[in-house]
Amino acid sequence: MSNDSNARSLRRLPALCLVLAAAAAASLPAAANDAAPRDARGAAPDSSAGGAYAPPEHGEHLSPQFRQRAWAEIRNNARKLKLAAAPQRDGARSLGGFAWPMAGNNGLADPGYHAISNYVDQAGSGQILDYSCGARSYDGHRGTDYYLWPFSWHKMDNSQVKVIAAAPGTIVGRSDGNFDRSCSVNNNNWNAVYVQHADGSVAWYGHMKNGSVTAKGIGASVAQGEYLGLVGSSGSSTEPHLHFEVYDANSNLIDPYAGSCNGLNLASAWAAQRPYYDSAINKLIVGNAQPAFASCPNPGNPNENTALRYGQQASFSAFYRDQLNSQQSQYRILRPNGTVFASWVHNGPAAHYSSSWWNWTWSSFAPTGPAGTWRFEVAYNGTTYSKSFTVSP
Ligand SMILES: [Zn+2]
Repeated sequence: MSNDSNARSLRRLPALCLVLAAAAAASLPAAANDAAPRDARGAAPDSSAGGAYAPPEHGEHLSPQFRQRAWAEIRNNARKLKLAAAPQRDGARSLGGFAWPMAGNNGLADPGYHAISNYVDQAGSGQILDYSCGARSYDGHRGTDYYLWPFSWHKMDNSQVKVIAAAPGTIVGRSDGNFDRSCSVNNNNWNAVYVQHADGSVAWYGHMKNGSVTAKGIGASVAQGEYLGLVGSSGSSTEPHLHFEVYDANSNLIDPYAGSCNGLNLASAWAAQRPYYDSAINKLIVGNAQPAFASCPNPGNPNENTALRYGQQASFSAFYRDQLNSQQSQYRILRPNGTVFASWVHNGPAAHYSSSWWNWTWSSFAPTGPAGTWRFEVAYNGTTYSKSFTVSP
């Protein structure tokens, strides 16, 4: 495979300084040589770093007792609201038209904010199988987990990602006021909203930030796309994420993603189902130091600074979701007049990363300028991502 040989040839390149202490502290496996620039032109960086980012633990393992309590609340409220009197014979068949259940909030300007750690587990006990016949799940997982990436705690603390209703319906359950900085599997209650749709199906939105759940009460209607809360880490959760779980009118579990290994339902519940590998760059960072990760629930430091000075250390990072080693990234740093200061190519060394990051650092960046507005640019998977920064004396 060409990518394997690329990875091997990268290891022969000299002058790669390991600056990975922060990443190592957060158990972020990374091989600095894997970030070595290829086909580099112009000024060369002094160091590079990066690799996979794995959420601290793989899953939340909501207990059967937890689900029983949730269902008791949902059914009790639905009965009072006279919503569940006549479930359709095949609720799954009428499911559809779901919108994406999250959106940027509070000024978030990044091109993306999430990655997927777990789909619904389609297999029986002791096995793992997702709808697309892969293993992106954990044993017994009944929802889809969308975690915030990168710097999930920053995003949560700054209320930057909201949970919105995938479909219109009626609130049949809600909980708020629960601790939201969980880093572990536990039996704590979560902050959540449960929405029953007109066809009798029910969607669960869980792990929200404390105090963020919509002020609307039981029985209130919500429109598609309406605010339900903010992504957090309440309940049994190892990192800020949305757990999205769906049932048909007969309380049968649904996997909203259609695929050849979805044994629960045939049709996709999404109006526009996103691909299994939803490859994109979530964020570009320009700063004076490498982004620093920290152990849960500490937020770490993105170390962003887009106002650089002549000859300062400068660090350029890209944060990916679903990066595949078949996908080449073309990096460029452009001077104010559009000429190329540096360009290089990079492929991730692993077949797939749910989330990954790569960094290149110059110990003395542009010591003689020129002053003005520069651009850090990455062409990846059909999209060119760009981040402007200034350089001044
Ligand atoms: Zn989950």
